[in-house]
Amino acid sequence: MSQLAIFGGAPVRSTPFPAYSVIGEDEKRAVMEVMDSGVLSRYLGCWDEDFYGGSKVREFEAAWAAQSQAKHAVAVNSCTSGLYAAVGALNIGPGDEVIVSPFTMVASATAALIFNAVPVFADIDPELYTLSAETIAQCITPRTKAIIVVHIFGQAADMDPIMALARRHGIAVIEDCAQVPFATYKGRPVGTLGDIGVFSLNYHKHIHTGEGGVCVTNSDELADRLQLIRNHAEAVVEDKGTTNLVNMIGFNFRLGEIEAAIGLSQLHKGPALIAQRKQNVQYLETKLAGIPGLAMPKVGPAGDHVYYQHVFDYDEEKTGVSRDSFSAAVKAELPPTLLREHEGPLLGAGYVKPIYLLPMYQRMIGYGTVQCPFRCPLYDGKPSYDAGICPNAERAHQSRVITHEMIRPQMTTRDLDDVAAAFHKVADNFGELSDRAHTIA
Ligand SMILES: *Cc1c(COP(=O)(O)O)cnc(C)c1O
Repeated sequence: MSQLAIFGGAPVRSTPFPAYSVIGEDEKRAVMEVMDSGVLSRYLGCWDEDFYGGSKVREFEAAWAAQSQAKHAVAVNSCTSGLYAAVGALNIGPGDEVIVSPFTMVASATAALIFNAVPVFADIDPELYTLSAETIAQCITPRTKAIIVVHIFGQAADMDPIMALARRHGIAVIEDCAQVPFATYKGRPVGTLGDIGVFSLNYHKHIHTGEGGVCVTNSDELADRLQLIRNHAEAVVEDKGTTNLVNMIGFNFRLGEIEAAIGLSQLHKGPALIAQRKQNVQYLETKLAGIPGLAMPKVGPAGDHVYYQHVFDYDEEKTGVSRDSFSAAVKAELPPTLLREHEGPLLGAGYVKPIYLLPMYQRMIGYGTVQCPFRCPLYDGKPSYDAGICPNAERAHQSRVITHEMIRPQMTTRDLDDVAAAFHKVADNFGELSDRAHTIA
């Protein structure tokens, strides 16, 4: 009777959703201008006028800083690079601990390891999916040097209590802003609520340059150190007259002129793209009202949400159908999105396995064969990466969260109607889904 696609019925829709491509004529023109100039990058890895890069990089940094209301913006070639540079800039090193969320892209935690510090995972708030002052407080030790707060899915963590806690303990705060460009917290732009904020310009994000990233800070000293780490610090410090040699181990984290030029165009488009996402979410949520067990994302103390992903909290107690059966059934009703066809419908059960459950943490094998830095003689802590340390993150991933990206700006109301129809069709057939699930089990 149901004809659910997962049981062989016709799906709600099989024509792919339109591609999310934010690259257009502006970007093409910007790229050609750089190509015509012949200068695709203008960095020198020594103390020289060109230590800070070419004109597009500098123009992009000035524009990003203005948009973020930050004193400094430092462009880098990914958010990952930016997080590494941020940890380095803050003098973090062997023996130190960095508190971080386990419910994020791996780089948020790897950033600590790069400078031989040890990530300590604090649990997430079950509604915001970010760290909270309460969960962070439980993890602070005399070794805690920094907190990496990850603003996840499009919404900032509750930063006022987190910053009060951090300042009380003299701990630095890095904001991972990869998923929240243009977002605000209580009316203030994210990124400078803590000491350093880091954004992503990877093609999965709201705006992008293919690959890229940018750090923001209000501190002159931190901006200087970020710039050094970005560009071969060890070769520069002597001539530049830098005396603090801590972590002056440089990388090549430089963004090219082409990407910077694309970034300038993208920056201008950002606000309209975000507005469209918000509008799509509002429309879809109205259509999804009344589906049992499916709670729409809550906008928390930040008072703003830029919807990198649209995330539901699914309660199987209310439906008798497991989260995984429900999301698989919805997915079967929907088509993929153009340009990302091989990923299938952009909807998934869970987000990421809590990071501490990855093999590197489970076996505490980092640098070399001697379990550095987890069991380093310079480190007198005993981190736990046991299953169960962050129950909210584990529950969110294993049984509660459904994420989807079908609220991106290219989606029309007709497309959104199909998304809603898929959810309703499955909800109208919960009975069969649970019967079959039981039969299969
Ligand atoms: C995408 C992402 C990153 C990494 O960004 P890249 O620019 O790809 O290095 C880091 N943190 C979070 C939360 C992300 O979503």
